[in-house]
Amino acid sequence: MNAVPIHAFNPGPITGAGNWTWLIPGRVPTLIDAGTGDPRHLDGLAAALDGATLKQVVVTHSHSDHAAGASAVAERFPGVRFLKMPWPDRDPKWGVSFDAIGGGDVVAAGDTVLTAVHTPGHAPDHLCFWHEESRTLFGGDLAVKGTTVWIPTSLQGDLTDYLTSLERVLALAPARILPAHGDVIDNPDTLLRGYLSHRREREQQVLAALRDGNGNPDAIVEHIYRGLKERLIPMARESVLAQLQKLERDGRVRRDDEAWHMIDP
Ligand SMILES: [Zn+2]
Repeated sequence: MNAVPIHAFNPGPITGAGNWTWLIPGRVPTLIDAGTGDPRHLDGLAAALDGATLKQVVVTHSHSDHAAGASAVAERFPGVRFLKMPWPDRDPKWGVSFDAIGGGDVVAAGDTVLTAVHTPGHAPDHLCFWHEESRTLFGGDLAVKGTTVWIPTSLQGDLTDYLTSLERVLALAPARILPAHGDVIDNPDTLLRGYLSHRREREQQVLAALRDGNGNPDAIVEHIYRGLKERLIPMARESVLAQLQKLERDGRVRRDDEAWHMIDP
């Protein structure tokens, strides 16, 4: 699997150093993720194509750092086709039309094929792309080396789905993950199992906070993340909400307005 990382030049508080997009050269030159339309990204892409015609862009999910550049890519590389799993509420923002794909679909890419793996949780439309032969996974935002992944409940993030997606990818036994953020992950098994145990631990902490009588998400954040920097509180709150929604689905907590309670503590 010959995949060329192309930087999107969009550093920021959520994207870190900025996104990686991945070009798979060959008969069907394919880009994984669209970036945000920065001219330096488009220049880097043109240089890597080295005169070849970009055929398609496969978008992992409809967060802006992965999809917002679609119209700029379309303008710079006329005739290019876009594919993604539909998220009807968000996709129209990106100004191009997408051909719908879903989990299990096989997509030609470069001189080979990739299989789409539906991996919701971080986003409902999230797809990873699996190259069986080299056991390489294009991971989108499923995993980021050295840190955990944000589950934005306000944008249909879902922790239960995310945990199932981690198990789904672990079952593939990937040799490496090429992510949209950070370094290549060459020990996926360790990282993904670490995520699972981290979330289990977090769940116990949320339950302990509830047992101590902290019923609203802000109090739980205070309880778990003592001394957290002000600017990180909104993300910690989302993370706690994601845990609470999972526990609600598991039948272990219930909610009255802003207050959460354990069922049979
Ligand atoms: Zn994302």
